[in-house]
Amino acid sequence: MNKVALVTGGSRGIGRQVAIQLAREGYRVLINYNKSKSEAQDTCQLLRSEGCQVEIFKADVSKQDQVKAMFEFCIDRFGHIDVLVNNSGISYEGLLTDMEEEDWDRIMDINLKSVFLCSKEVLAYMVSNHHGNIINISSMWGQVGASCEVAYSASKAGMIGFTKALAKEVGPSGIRVNAIAPGVIMTDMMKDFGQADIDYLRDETPIMRLGQPEDIANLVSFLASDRADFITGQVLASNGGFVI
Ligand code: NAP
Repeated sequence: MNKVALVTGGSRGIGRQVAIQLAREGYRVLINYNKSKSEAQDTCQLLRSEGCQVEIFKADVSKQDQVKAMFEFCIDRFGHIDVLVNNSGISYEGLLTDMEEEDWDRIMDINLKSVFLCSKEVLAYMVSNHHGNIINISSMWGQVGASCEVAYSASKAGMIGFTKALAKEVGPSGIRVNAIAPGVIMTDMMKDFGQADIDYLRDETPIMRLGQPEDIANLVSFLASDRADFITGQVLASNGGFVI
């Protein structure tokens, strides 16, 4: 039976490409979206036209009831779940001293609490199957910190601590947990950056190009596969050498 993967924030950017790659590799994929319904539908339609088995589900991953409903839908539709990709995320730029409490809470809820909520739900299924794979999309800023992105960096560093601790907790249950720390990846998340900033970031990257969603999807595909069977609790960077 084909493996099943659930990708949060699969409507756009990195998550969309992860969903496409896994579906084309034969996974049955549940694409989660929150606001971008038509983008999720378009991706679903594209993949179904290629013969892939794909479903979409609307859920705000920071809300427990919606997360529960999403996993129930996944099990109902596909029967089991092998891979969870915690990808949904938002960014926030500005001085910490200008940040409001509600903005802090929103970043933490969507970037970090969601990882707790989704992992808790999926583990209920994975532990009983003695098998599973959780992949958390963190950031290089979670590794080294970014000025004017303190909350974002803290949420992504939190994902790294979460990954390491959970890997120890559920390894004996046959479940691997890893994080990916992308560098600058050209998605909507970068749309507020001007050309001068983009040029600067590219010039600071030893590989001399910025990342594409495919760069991260390839790594997810590897971590989800049996080729990565001895890898858990790790943070794999894909950043063109921006952070070494
Ligand atoms: P993006 O293009 O802005 O896409 C963000 C995705 O997150 C969308 O699919 C969005 O879904 C989803 N999302 C946001 N809030 C949500 C919520 N409450 N519930 C469910 N889904 C939600 O960003 P991206 O660049 O692909 O980023 C994906 C992940 O990679 C994020 O965790 C980000 O922090 C991380 N990352 C990105 C970069 C980069 O340079 N791009 C670098 C390092 C790490 P809807 O539109 O449907 O709401």
